[in-house]
Amino acid sequence: MAISRINISELQNLFDGDPLILVPNNKIRITLLDEYSRLQKTNVFLSPSIMAIDIWLEDLWTKLGRKGISPFCDYQILSPMDEKLLWHTILENSLDKYPLLNSAEAAISVSHAYRLLRQWQPDIDVMSSLSHFLAIPDVSAFSSWVTQYRELGEQHRVLNLVDCIHRLLKENARIDPAWFSHDIKLFNFFQPPPIYRALFKTLSEQRACESLFSKQSDMSSQRQRFSFHSLDEECQACSVWIDQLSKQDPCAHIGVISNKGISSDRKIRNELEKKLDPAAILQLGTLQSAVNHANSGMPIIKTAVIADAVLLLGFCFDIQKSENVCRILQSNYLVAAEEEQEARLQMELFMRRFASSEYSLSELNRHLGNEKKPFYAPILSNALLQYRSHFRANSQPKTTNEWAAFIEESLQELGWPGAYLTDAEKDTVRQWHELVEQIASSGIYLGQVQFQSILTKIKLLCRDTLQKYPTNNTAQVSLLTPNEAIGLNFDYVWFVGFDDNNWPTPVTPSPFVPYSMQEKLSIPGCNSQQNYEQAQQTFDLICNSANTKIIISHHRDNEELHFRPSGLAADIPLSEYKLIASQPEPIRSVIDHFTVSPTITTVVDESIPLGEAETIGGGHRIISDQSSCPFRSFAHHRLEARSLNDFETGMSAMARGTATHKALEILFERITSQKQIRLINEAQRNSYLDEASQQAIDYLSDRFPQFMAPNFSRIEKQRIKQLLLKFLEMEKSRDNFTVLVREHSQQWQHGKLNINLQIDRIDQLNDGSLALIDYKTGKTSYPRKTFVEERPEDMQLPIYYTATKEVTDQQVSSVNIAHLNIEKLAYSGISAEANFQSKVTVWDSEKEQMSWKQLTDSWVAKTENLADEFTNGTALVNPSNGLSTCRYCNLNNLCRIKEIATENYSMPIEEASDD
Ligand code: SF4
Repeated sequence: MAISRINISELQNLFDGDPLILVPNNKIRITLLDEYSRLQKTNVFLSPSIMAIDIWLEDLWTKLGRKGISPFCDYQILSPMDEKLLWHTILENSLDKYPLLNSAEAAISVSHAYRLLRQWQPDIDVMSSLSHFLAIPDVSAFSSWVTQYRELGEQHRVLNLVDCIHRLLKENARIDPAWFSHDIKLFNFFQPPPIYRALFKTLSEQRACESLFSKQSDMSSQRQRFSFHSLDEECQACSVWIDQLSKQDPCAHIGVISNKGISSDRKIRNELEKKLDPAAILQLGTLQSAVNHANSGMPIIKTAVIADAVLLLGFCFDIQKSENVCRILQSNYLVAAEEEQEARLQMELFMRRFASSEYSLSELNRHLGNEKKPFYAPILSNALLQYRSHFRANSQPKTTNEWAAFIEESLQELGWPGAYLTDAEKDTVRQWHELVEQIASSGIYLGQVQFQSILTKIKLLCRDTLQKYPTNNTAQVSLLTPNEAIGLNFDYVWFVGFDDNNWPTPVTPSPFVPYSMQEKLSIPGCNSQQNYEQAQQTFDLICNSANTKIIISHHRDNEELHFRPSGLAADIPLSEYKLIASQPEPIRSVIDHFTVSPTITTVVDESIPLGEAETIGGGHRIISDQSSCPFRSFAHHRLEARSLNDFETGMSAMARGTATHKALEILFERITSQKQIRLINEAQRNSYLDEASQQAIDYLSDRFPQFMAPNFSRIEKQRIKQLLLKFLEMEKSRDNFTVLVREHSQQWQHGKLNINLQIDRIDQLNDGSLALIDYKTGKTSYPRKTFVEERPEDMQLPIYYTATKEVTDQQVSSVNIAHLNIEKLAYSGISAEANFQSKVTVWDSEKEQMSWKQLTDSWVAKTENLADEFTNGTALVNPSNGLSTCRYCNLNNLCRIKEIATENYSMPIEEASDD
């Protein structure tokens, strides 16, 4: 049996005499038509004439206009989109006089204010009502914009719908009853604004016109109220209740009414869909939803397919945000998305390593077109190149009609929207095409405009257009806002999030209409009393439309926010909600859905040794990661799982670090001992510093040509030179040393593991022993405990030692990090003797009860053990210093450390915090 969403059982005469039935909106029209067809006893029948009031008015205006009847033939009706574009154009043109931070948002707000004033003042003209308030700057600006709006409207002979009603009312005496071929029935107009009330009065004076309402009930005795701790708990309770109801009463219409906003509504919807149709999560948007909702509440610009289209259109300009370029590289809505997927991914990885927050598209095309590189993606490269040439050839100002054609053609050439769209995406793309058509037809008053202006207007409209969903006649549940629910009937209703923040909603007066005028006219949202009365009226209407049971609930906490129950339902006593025992896990239900008797086998892999043909190479991080957390090493170096690098503004710290390394390499090629530092004259030293810092600048200019303008290069060179000079001063204070090797490549092989090392410098000290040095441009020290811990988080210096000892008989008596940072110029490390640098810790064998040899032997043993662990595939989630090790690791979603920690897995979390 079909579900009834509107109760007309007591309105036998609604369809009598073939009337024209006018309803408040399209949703009520569709529901009424459905109900009419449900009540028919035959399969074939004539549909009654049912129209949404606004559509009927537009239709009437157009029809009578074609017959040459005034005022219909004098003006065309502006669509809501055209109206916003017109306001936006006016606001943009007046920016010199009235500067605005965001003209697009202001246009929407001004358009709304004008409509409200016109709807709530059926008898008075806006300009005369505003004339007493022109001393208020916002009102004065508004008044000026309204004047321009009207002048443009007159010039182009266009009016918005509310202005058209005003015209009709003004022409009252000339309205001909013959214009309306049917008697009129007004259905379910519960809260019409004053202008509609005036129109209905006029219609009833001219033609038989009756107001009718669907059946209402008095549900005061069947209401229950609950309070929950969180929105999650509330959603869960609601979905369990609905799940049970839908099984007990499969024809019941169940309303879930929420006034909480997009993100909460999405959560409620997901919870309901998960419960009512768990298998739907695998259908990827191709099935009709188990929950009806008028729209997703989401502006179409936030949907992936439209966001990518808008981004792509902006790719006619060379410099783009790197995040946006990566988004396009990942987009499925483009030409050859599947064929070039791997190459585009490689390009993103490359960019995330080397690019800053902005990227040049010429640079992108150069890389994508390089067939020797793993990011060779010629199809995308050509498409982007063609789009930019196409734009360059068409960049002069054009009419909106021409730009609309350019946009559709360009997107098509770029392969948008791709080959595989879900049903919901197809609907959204249809909304996009309608929107572009609207832009095309708005040329009459926009004239010739630049592309940038069209792009801004498209973004404005996409932000203001909500993604629509078609109604599913078989779905029992309707998730609606209070305004969408008015006029429908329900068997059961659950008001979710019924707190004092939403019922009534906060006061939102228009900034452009004098407050006193808003209060006098009782414009919605103008003050708390008005909002309270409005909310009470809406609440009563919805309650009276439910005929079996009403539940009202709220949740008390949401992150830092605390909510109290709404005063509107204070007379309903609070009941205790007993949460029904947990239902099957959704994923379990999905499996059951697809397999009749699923057999689940659990396999525990505690270690996965390197395979026969598997050889792994990498830097010292393999051993450091294995020591910090075996799973981290496994994920990074076996699975190659890493989070993507964020883009930095300007040049990355990593690039600057590499440039400094290059400078140091040259500098210590010229200066090879402490003695030389002491003996060279200033001119010679300056020349070496100059040469070294120029080396760094050449490297940066090659990588970042867009930043390395002459002035910036000069400043950067000066900075590096200063840093090197200070470092030389520090080196001068050391005991005698000789630089033996710079940027020394060394391999350390252990079984199947091949570690590649790059030791920045090896010095020979005054006793003939060696000192290993690694340059770092960061400030993080290498503390003493790192050399003695069982599992230190950083094994770089111990592995340098291990690898060096394998190839030399000379004693290595010092291992160090040289910090080259303007705030920290120092060494941190450890030495066997006090002959490296005065501030470096000297190993005290007596105090530590361990000789230097024993210490360094322990480094070798640790390194080898960790290498064995890695090759044996030990991948335990076991951070060496508890959660403090995890602080800068981005693998937590993969290793699920949080879940493990809460299950009291034997992990030294407490120790970590103590440490
Ligand atoms: S988040 Fe912590 S437990 Fe997870 S891989 Fe990283 S270090 Fe290991």
